[in-house]
Amino acid sequence: MNYLDTEIIKIDRKQMDIDALEKAGNILRGGGLVAFPTETVYGLGANGLDEEAARKIYEAKGRPSDNPLIIHIADLEDLDRIVEEVPEAARRLAAAYWPGPLTMIFRKSACVPYGTTGGLDTVAVRMPSDEIAREMIRRGGGYIAAPSANTSGRPSPTTAQHVYEDMDGKIPLILDGGAVEIGLESSIVDLTTGIPTILRPGYVSLEMVQEVLGRAEMDRGLISEDSSVKPKAPGMKYRHYAPKARLKIVEGPMERVISYINDRADSSKRVGIICTEETLQKYACGTIKCIGSRQDELSIASHLFAVLREFDEDGVEEIYSESFDTPQLGQAIMNRLLKAAGHQRIDVSEIEEEL
Ligand code: AMP
Ligand code: MG
Repeated sequence: MNYLDTEIIKIDRKQMDIDALEKAGNILRGGGLVAFPTETVYGLGANGLDEEAARKIYEAKGRPSDNPLIIHIADLEDLDRIVEEVPEAARRLAAAYWPGPLTMIFRKSACVPYGTTGGLDTVAVRMPSDEIAREMIRRGGGYIAAPSANTSGRPSPTTAQHVYEDMDGKIPLILDGGAVEIGLESSIVDLTTGIPTILRPGYVSLEMVQEVLGRAEMDRGLISEDSSVKPKAPGMKYRHYAPKARLKIVEGPMERVISYINDRADSSKRVGIICTEETLQKYACGTIKCIGSRQDELSIASHLFAVLREFDEDGVEEIYSESFDTPQLGQAIMNRLLKAAGHQRIDVSEIEEEL
């Protein structure tokens, strides 16, 4: 369906506009789509128990239909209805990290349509902490399927303006809660197989899951150099977040990374550079974007997708990024950045220095 005007309503978390939330709830209960803020990225919501409503999400995003959706709930007591059982490990993770940026995979109950799970017998569930999201979910029927509210393949939206760029004319309503807090999609943990397995790294790190469960591991398909080992989450196999210009990640000792990038920026090409507050002064030419500070890894995470989107408007031909192997979020940040770069990385320590 085409909507001539996509409405954007600003919502203040301290004084929530109940009429706007009711309006969103009515659209959702009527089988329509609403984009809304969460602490991770903006979501594109529909009733997850209504196959036809979920289908509209795939259409608006241009998302492959075998890529399953995450169902968002507002209250823990709503979990039982959509899953076959809640394993003890899930109860412990929920107590530690829900509401928050963690998605868990369960065996689905009969009321969850295959149109939501991409044909799988399992379902992904998350309880977000954002108050706007939870109030909207409650009013929308309690079970809101929501992927990131971007066109498939583009960087996930971290502001309502990003959503508008991709969804204008395709959905009736965007709830605008300002810039999101984390800026990377939720961590996904699969609890349906023997060892709890992280299928997508996010704010909740492997170490944080291990702290609660003792044993947990990273999906080998995410970390293996062997490309025949595929990721377990269907969505992780798709190319994602790709800016129009070719992106390359430069790794190695920082001084050499900087000199390598400066050499490229000196060329006749229009070059974009992704750096940090600590290195900003060391670059001279090119379109230089400071993503955040290495002392504050959340600042790097929360600006990553916005920076990738900005380069599309700047018309650069090549982008070089420093690498961000920070303690808690490094794995999640590098997972997104490597995907955006189509895994193109340059290790300067392997290049012989010119005499
Ligand atoms: P997005 O909605 O864009 O945040 O992507 C959701 C991610 O969750 C994708 O990578 C999906 O493949 C993954 N996912 C959703 N449901 C399941 C499931 N039942 N089993 C495994 N991965 C899932
Ligand atoms: Mg997405």
